[in-house]
Amino acid sequence: MSTAWAIVVAAGEGKRMREGPLECGPRKPFIEIAGKPILLWTLEAVARCPDIAGIVLAVGKDDLPSAMALGLRRQLSNWGRGFTTLTGGARRQDTVKRALGAVPDEADIVVVHDAVRPFATPELFSAVICVARETGAAVATLPVAETVKRVEQTDSGTFAVETIDRSNLEVAQTPQAFRAAELRRLLEEAEREGTEFTDEAQLFDRKGLPVAPVEGERLNIKITTPEDLELAEAIFQHRLAPPPRPTADVRVGSGYDIHPLVPGRKLVVCGVEIPSELGAAGHSDGDAACHAAIDALLGAAAMGDIGRLFPDTDPEYKDARSMKLLAGVCARVWNAGFKLLSLDLTIFLEKPKLAPHVQGMTRILTQATNIPAWRANVKAKTMNGIGPVGEGKAIAAQATVVVAIRDAGRETRRDS
Ligand code: MG
Repeated sequence: MSTAWAIVVAAGEGKRMREGPLECGPRKPFIEIAGKPILLWTLEAVARCPDIAGIVLAVGKDDLPSAMALGLRRQLSNWGRGFTTLTGGARRQDTVKRALGAVPDEADIVVVHDAVRPFATPELFSAVICVARETGAAVATLPVAETVKRVEQTDSGTFAVETIDRSNLEVAQTPQAFRAAELRRLLEEAEREGTEFTDEAQLFDRKGLPVAPVEGERLNIKITTPEDLELAEAIFQHRLAPPPRPTADVRVGSGYDIHPLVPGRKLVVCGVEIPSELGAAGHSDGDAACHAAIDALLGAAAMGDIGRLFPDTDPEYKDARSMKLLAGVCARVWNAGFKLLSLDLTIFLEKPKLAPHVQGMTRILTQATNIPAWRANVKAKTMNGIGPVGEGKAIAAQATVVVAIRDAGRETRRDS
């Protein structure tokens, strides 16, 4: 039979955690991070490995009621895993031996895992199980990243006296996996011989039996100190945080313009020349619709206004085609890091009727601004005889545009 069971060891004293402010708090495996006891996170991590058929949990004798209260048996059975809880012994080796007694005979591999390592991945459990089946014993280990010093106490103080060659040093984690029969035999032998050990792999290497290192995981931390708790909380919060919604960072701009209507001028409205007795007075072609759109664009991009960009004292813009100016402003806004999302234009004119020209205006507008027709809208209204527009003395226009930040890096610099 090839079945693996896990022993989760939660029977430690947890002294390092119970110093200081946490002295009176719950014992380590029952401390909650991200809304759940560490123990539950760890059991979930173990149960996620498809190669593990069941779990024996060993807790301290005072912790049995807390463990029972978690309803673990039902949870584990929901995940399709066998489950037994028992109390551990005085030392880790006593605990593991007792737990091993509860592992079903059909299990050929036993994986030992610390209850306070909630971040081990299913892949890591599978890897140690697979390697242990081949070699007899496998341990998750990591190379030592830091420089290692040997420290010595002398009469004049404590000093780092030597730098240890770390090229052959690895730090052991759990999970550790073993052939069950071999682990049973070695545990009994150790008890007879009265030897002590801090992890199960020592039983094997002490006897010269091979223990294969399997590459561990940096985030597979053992939550030992209050600082580890903080780190674990941060990792969980990071992992549990919902992915950012793809909301665009958008800006809105508005523009308004009004021009007097006078004889002897062409009437150009949103790029379209409309037959009329009166035309819009102005330095340029007097296209109020384009001017409103330009101001709205500049407003959304926080780039000033049309008067600053195209002064009406500048001969270059005498009788200028405003639709061309609008196209130029679109390019500037684009280059400044914005993408035009929508443009809504309302034109106020008493006569002639603009309705027959709205389609043509929209077409020219979308060409000049380089946006699809469904992002551009032109509306024409009269003022029902009210005010200068209503009396036929003026043409007015208002525009609203929405732009999105096209270049996040650029925008970050703008904001800083
Ligand atoms: Mg104007």
